[in-house]
Amino acid sequence: MVLNKAFFDLPEGMIYLDGNSLGPLPKSVKARVASMLADEWGAQLIKGWNSAGWMAQPSVIGDKVGRLIGAPEGTVVMGDTLSVKVYQAVAAALKMRPDRRIILSDSGNFPTDLYMVEGLIRTLDAGYELRVVDPEDVAGAIDDTIAAVMLTQVDYRTGRMHDMMALTQAAHAAGAVMIWDLAHSAGAVPVDVVGCACEFAVGCTYKYLNGGPGAPAFIYVRKDLSDTINPALAGWLGHDAPFAFDISYRPAPGIERMRVGTPPVIQMAALEAALEVWEDVDMSDLRAASVALQETFIKEVEARVPELTLASPRDSARRGSQVSFAFEQGYAAMQALIARDVIGDFRAPNIMRFGFTPLYVDHDDVRRAVDRIETVMRDRLWDNPDYLTRSRVT
Ligand SMILES: *Cc1c(COP(=O)(O)O)cnc(C)c1O
Repeated sequence: MVLNKAFFDLPEGMIYLDGNSLGPLPKSVKARVASMLADEWGAQLIKGWNSAGWMAQPSVIGDKVGRLIGAPEGTVVMGDTLSVKVYQAVAAALKMRPDRRIILSDSGNFPTDLYMVEGLIRTLDAGYELRVVDPEDVAGAIDDTIAAVMLTQVDYRTGRMHDMMALTQAAHAAGAVMIWDLAHSAGAVPVDVVGCACEFAVGCTYKYLNGGPGAPAFIYVRKDLSDTINPALAGWLGHDAPFAFDISYRPAPGIERMRVGTPPVIQMAALEAALEVWEDVDMSDLRAASVALQETFIKEVEARVPELTLASPRDSARRGSQVSFAFEQGYAAMQALIARDVIGDFRAPNIMRFGFTPLYVDHDDVRRAVDRIETVMRDRLWDNPDYLTRSRVT
């Protein structure tokens, strides 16, 4: 089963096409967080670290996220935010190739990933270079000077999807380490980190995994490597024996060393409850449902709304789980849609983004969304001063 609207607490009448940015609230999260507060924090206080299993959450939940990306048990751990997990992965990758100095990425990457690498390079101050090429040029830019290739599989603006298998093989053939950011992949498309043999994968859980705003990120490290990594962020909870309070750092075995500090226990509880929905979901069924929704959307929009230009790849095999259309007044048009309960978002300079999440979006929603898009565009309802001023978050 894929469609499971009853699992979510969606506002009546809203067509939510922004689960690629922030997933909706699962009902199970409400109940779980309420009981976490009352029965765990409230009743058990400090004992909860043991009695309620708080200290084990990052790896217990890591295994659940791991199942969605093809990672075996004991290879994924939760914590921090995705920006931090990117930093950890790249720092570890550079240590694995001490004779190389270039990190390769592409201009479709989410800016924070690039910023984190810039910051790491400044800190290391050892002649590293971040090389950013166009997404289509990545394969051709991989050579034996590259220490690490760091890519986000699905482009946050256009939905363009990289071929994980082919690019990982190209990176490995050149002797480079491969880091995948799965922010727009986990819970959206089938992923097989073991099959592609990438060294690292990272991602967040507030998008397609519905963990809530600020939900913890994840990091995967290939099993044969995790014991060899010397973490750049050597926090006490990644120590071999945190409660020995040794004066110097000794990494924990395996993936646990990628933990840093105290886990956000309330957010972890929320995420764990949100992940229940995946227990019966087959990722290839989910993918088929997502593609069907996207194809209907593209076909209907192109037939009825000539003002919008498809900004995503037309071939569904090269697209993640979102569809973007370009329109000069995209920001105002999206505000007009949001005012009419069709929720997507806008990315500069002119991209209107619509995410397709088959857990809670069906074909009827798609048709109703296109009806409203058609009205907004045909009647120029976006041409309204109220819709032209940009909010802090777009
Ligand atoms: C959403 C997203 C992020 C966000 O990073 P945070 O540290 O969680 O704010 C980072 N990278 C990519 C590719 C994303 O899509």
